[in-house]
Amino acid sequence: MKKRCAIVGASLGGFRSAQELRKAGFDGEIVLIGEESHPPYQRPPLSKQLLKGTSPVERCYLRGNISEPYSRKLGVRATSIDPLEKNITLSNDTTVEYDYAVISTGARPITFPKVPPSSRVIYLRNIEDSVRLRDQLKQHVRIGVVGAGFIGSEVAASVSGLVKQVVLFDGDEHPMSKVVGPYLSQTLKTVHQNNGVETVFGAPVSIVDSETEDVVWIETPSQRHPFDVVVIGVGVKPATQWLRSVDSLKFDEVGALLADDKGKVYGAEALYVVGDASSWLHPLYQRHIHVEHFESTVNQASQVAKNITNTPRDAPELPFAWTEQHGRLIQTVGVRMADSKDEVIHRSGHALVVLFHSSDKVTGAAVFDASEELSWAKAAVLSSLRKEPD
Ligand SMILES: Cc1cc2nc3c(=O)[nH]c(=O)nc-3n(C[C@H](O)[C@H](O)[C@H](O)COP(=O)(O)OP(=O)(O)OC[C@H]3O[C@@H](n4cnc5c(N)ncnc54)[C@H](O)[C@@H]3O)c2cc1C
Repeated sequence: MKKRCAIVGASLGGFRSAQELRKAGFDGEIVLIGEESHPPYQRPPLSKQLLKGTSPVERCYLRGNISEPYSRKLGVRATSIDPLEKNITLSNDTTVEYDYAVISTGARPITFPKVPPSSRVIYLRNIEDSVRLRDQLKQHVRIGVVGAGFIGSEVAASVSGLVKQVVLFDGDEHPMSKVVGPYLSQTLKTVHQNNGVETVFGAPVSIVDSETEDVVWIETPSQRHPFDVVVIGVGVKPATQWLRSVDSLKFDEVGALLADDKGKVYGAEALYVVGDASSWLHPLYQRHIHVEHFESTVNQASQVAKNITNTPRDAPELPFAWTEQHGRLIQTVGVRMADSKDEVIHRSGHALVVLFHSSDKVTGAAVFDASEELSWAKAAVLSSLRKEPD
């Protein structure tokens, strides 16, 4: 009898896991289960090319075939899992039995209390959200963006110039400051301002979307701003709620499913997790790390497929992320710890690299608009993390 691998979540992590399983020689049945009705797709264009209207929806779809035996169950949600009996119950009251299962259910936006999504309040996570926002980009429209993390900053950058006004709000003093550190985030703030994005930072924000008015208000303690559309990007929560009834599973403080350094979930047999829903033990940091980025998800899918098929694995990769704003590319490798001391290095020409130091190690780095410096930065982090203490 051929083995069956059920994959829950039919987007980047799920589709890549299926592809990597075949690449690693898995010849059993693959069942890909996803609540969205789209074919598997990638999200980075949702805040960039798809949003700006420079690329159609179809360009988001992930390419490549998966050979038979392979089936997709789209438009159905997994509602529970029984890791002892090895089966998954779906929202259409059917059950899928498995020999191996991969969880790749990603994450969902954190919502503001009493501010549900609507035609003019958008939490950007899927194709529909991006298209809804894109369809409102007109020259008379005022857009307020709450949260200057990856998604909020990208949205503000993408829509500036396409609408009448874009205002970016954040409780911190600068955009993306926890991820890239104060120096680069100050640079990014200036880049936003030079490209027509107004910034209101360092003040708590509340949102009032009243049915009786034709604007949504964003309020800080000192001001009230009216907008036609508000985009909220204040972070995400791993989509692991449906697993919570299984006592043996363990979750980190944000709700990501804990797994060992090969993606094998603790407290269950033959169960793996990849992507935004996961928190893997990272041998170089000797702690669990929860990453919400594209390349890490792709890498984890490959590691899990090798683990399932007993194929030798590669050395662990560093977390990696990129973001594009106003034509500038920012790439990060590794992790910036909360107590990080940042070292700004001006490499050749205008290239800018920031190394993040913590506990006598370089734990991560950010590279500003200088891809050619990425391998140097990565090597600096790796050699520091691998260095034995004196
Ligand atoms: C707008 C946007 C822009 C981004 N840009 C970048 C970027 O520039 N660079 C970068 O590095 N990263 C970027 N990311 C992050 C990157 O897209 C994610 O890290 C990646 O999508 C994670 O893949 P995943 O498969 O874990 O989760 P997802 O892509 O979220 O896929 C999870 C899938 O599982 C489905 N699902 C959830 N629960 C269930 C259930 N119970 N049953 C069945 N299906 C379920 C979801 O509907 C979804 O389709 C961006 C993300 C967004 C939202």
